[in-house]
Amino acid sequence: MGQVVNLRGGWQFGAQAANVPHKTATGRMETMHELGIANSVLDTVRAEAALRPGAVPTKVAVRVGELSGIDPDALAFSFEALTADTEYQRVKLEIETRPREHRCNGCGATFRVVDYCVLCPKCGSTRSQCISGEELELLYLEMEEPWNACLSSEKS
Ligand SMILES: [Zn+2]
Repeated sequence: MGQVVNLRGGWQFGAQAANVPHKTATGRMETMHELGIANSVLDTVRAEAALRPGAVPTKVAVRVGELSGIDPDALAFSFEALTADTEYQRVKLEIETRPREHRCNGCGATFRVVDYCVLCPKCGSTRSQCISGEELELLYLEMEEPWNACLSSEKS
């Protein structure tokens, strides 16, 4: 039996992410940025674990929009590197990627934006709003609580 801690709203990087330089020639800047994000995720895991003595974090989930400038692979790699050989090495980082989507101001249709083409596929309008793709946020943290697991198995 695990426990899921909802982390939504507690942490997000939206504003900073927009200012992050995208891929450089070497990719170095980008990787360093993902390392910073991974560090923040790990900080949150540590803080949540500290609030719940005995609970063991097993999974942390983040949502990454394609416009956030974050490379999910680099983020996963950074998180793995940070947690290797630590008490958090069992924590799995789950990355939910979100495509860029717009909603048409004219007909209300929502559509995926590919290659910066923001033309509404239904009515042809060029006026639309971005409704997803810029996300960079924590979703939830899963923890195992050995004591609770004992208690619930006694009951059944
Ligand atoms: Zn439309």
